[in-house]
Amino acid sequence: GLLMEGSVNIKSAAEIAIMREAGRINAEALEAAKAAIAPGVTTAELNEVVEAVHRKYGVYSPFKNYPGPYPFPASICASVNEELVHGIPSQRKLKEGDIVSIDCGTVYQGFVGDSAFTAGVGEISPLAHRLIEVTKQALDAAIAQMVPGNRLGDIGAAVESLVLKHGFYVTHLYTGHGVGRELHESPLVPNYGQPGQGMLLREGMTLAIEPMVLVGTRYTRELKNQWTVISRDRSLTAHQEHTVAITAHGPEILTIL
Ligand code: MG
Ligand code: MG
Repeated sequence: GLLMEGSVNIKSAAEIAIMREAGRINAEALEAAKAAIAPGVTTAELNEVVEAVHRKYGVYSPFKNYPGPYPFPASICASVNEELVHGIPSQRKLKEGDIVSIDCGTVYQGFVGDSAFTAGVGEISPLAHRLIEVTKQALDAAIAQMVPGNRLGDIGAAVESLVLKHGFYVTHLYTGHGVGRELHESPLVPNYGQPGQGMLLREGMTLAIEPMVLVGTRYTRELKNQWTVISRDRSLTAHQEHTVAITAHGPEILTIL
């Protein structure tokens, strides 16, 4: 957008309309991946399911070749159990009782939709179920704060207070972010904060809100592959994400069908 709020891109209605379509395609790709989750399926196969949807629309994932220790090698991140984020799709077969987070982006007409979900493979433990539900509730609570006049700290405080109330933890090291022409734009959107503090939220901001929740600790470490982030105590983790526009009427989730 032409208008800038600090270094934050403010999107026009026309730009948000394009992001809505990017988000819709992204949701279709994620739904296809979710439908393919089953014991015996590999995370590489889930990546192929997403790429097939992208091919249908002539679009692509901004994750592929994303710069890092080496270019990210896939269109999705697939993170299993203690893997919090940035898992690399592989020949690993999902098994009954696992939980898997699929994070996916879509670039459509130069704009990005970014979203993630965590789902169980077959029957999962009550703890795993509760973790996923709390993570979804944290995302909902964060999105509810996305009204003009609130501040960035209101979003993070909503996430962390809900998660801590349920006895789980949020990482302070990995955050949500602005999203638009780039996958990662300003500002950073932490999953913690002080109510009423931080950058003023205003109409036209588009943010990727992504609670990352851990059962046993907020601390993480990286696997030797230099991408995958796991809980330091190897406890279960979950991740939910939507790209959301702040409108005059409140939040609009863009990454839905
Ligand atoms: Mg994402
Ligand atoms: Mg994101």
